[in-house]
Amino acid sequence: MKVFKFGGASVRDAQSVKNVAEVLEIQGFENCLLVVSAMGKTTNALEKVVELYFKKDDYQSEIEKIKSAHIEISKGIFAENHPVFSEISLFFDDMDSFLRRNKSPNYNFVYDQVVSCGEMISSKILSEFLNEIQFKNQWLDARDYIKTDDSYREGIVNWEKTEKNISFLDTDICYVTQGFIGSDDNNFTVTLGREGSDYSAAIFAYGLNAESLTIWKDVPGIMTGDPRKFENAELLANISYEEAVEMAYYGASVVHPKTLQPLKQKQIPFFVKSFVEPQKQGTKVGNSQKNQNEESYILKENQILMRIATRDFSFIAEEHLSLIFNELAKNKIKISLMQNSAISLALCLEDKYGNIDALNEELGKNFNTEVIKNVSLFTVRNAKLEDLNKFYKDKNVLLEQISKQTMQMVVEN
Ligand code: ASP
Ligand code: MG
Repeated sequence: MKVFKFGGASVRDAQSVKNVAEVLEIQGFENCLLVVSAMGKTTNALEKVVELYFKKDDYQSEIEKIKSAHIEISKGIFAENHPVFSEISLFFDDMDSFLRRNKSPNYNFVYDQVVSCGEMISSKILSEFLNEIQFKNQWLDARDYIKTDDSYREGIVNWEKTEKNISFLDTDICYVTQGFIGSDDNNFTVTLGREGSDYSAAIFAYGLNAESLTIWKDVPGIMTGDPRKFENAELLANISYEEAVEMAYYGASVVHPKTLQPLKQKQIPFFVKSFVEPQKQGTKVGNSQKNQNEESYILKENQILMRIATRDFSFIAEEHLSLIFNELAKNKIKISLMQNSAISLALCLEDKYGNIDALNEELGKNFNTEVIKNVSLFTVRNAKLEDLNKFYKDKNVLLEQISKQTMQMVVEN
């Protein structure tokens, strides 16, 4: 069994949905499971619905807009009387009645029940379209297979249950299912974190002991830098799981960081290819023996630099660190880089949930703190030490760290 993942950009309009069929034509549509994300920017739009709902603002007209966009795309794919149109309407009616009836004040819970609809609808549209053109497939509800705890918006996978559920799939047919979602013990929907569809694909690949996983993207593969940000970015044809994990960790947006671990564990070959040029080879991630020494660049934007110093000139010691790390974990703020000196600690942080002011207030009770928002973390992997200077020009460097293979700096925007 092969697993393919198609992201939001690969199904953003009618033409793109049809292009998926062309990719499958070239790849062969046999014994495969397709994981699909929400269409285009649907997830952002659904996030807005939840925001408006909690502000008691007009969320219904936002739902209407998302619904029309899906209907519009479907008109470019299906005949007018196709049952897919009433199926689409049903998803939106369910969303609306869920929100009307909902009593839960838990933002993350409501978020997951609503935002997951993007994947439900896109997978339905893709499945119906493929069946229509005789790419026979069965639509699966991923929530019946991927089981998680109830950490809404960041579900933690129960591997034992998930693997068992997936083992019941028939490996002789094709399936179309959703990325990004699973469900908890009470069968409530739980999302796996933004951009989590790659991870879903890896989970299915793991459970199926798949022959390979291919992620189809709008770039030629994994590059030495994001081609939209670095002009000289080149394709990496062959890289190891370790190198790919490191790149994802430092913020390369090619694959979701959690994707690699299940694949490596079962030694499942992993390809990143272009849905625009599907005949090209792209990147293969596997047990590459090749010494990885291509210089690669990763820019992680929207970071925060926080400096924390003791008030009484005492050393930053274990008790201080444990207090600081505890507060970070409580606020779900992630550390991208840290550096400490005798009396101060500098942290480059990622604050997905907007908790930095609360954290600063709490730590301000015990320390002197300084927060600089909207900085970028620039990472160079396999940096050639002799020409590091070129990276400094035109940059206001707030913090830097150089280790054997990696150079990182936090720069002001
Ligand atoms: N649709 C979700 C998102 O945009 C999941 C994904 O695309 O991987 O974050
Ligand atoms: Mg997406």
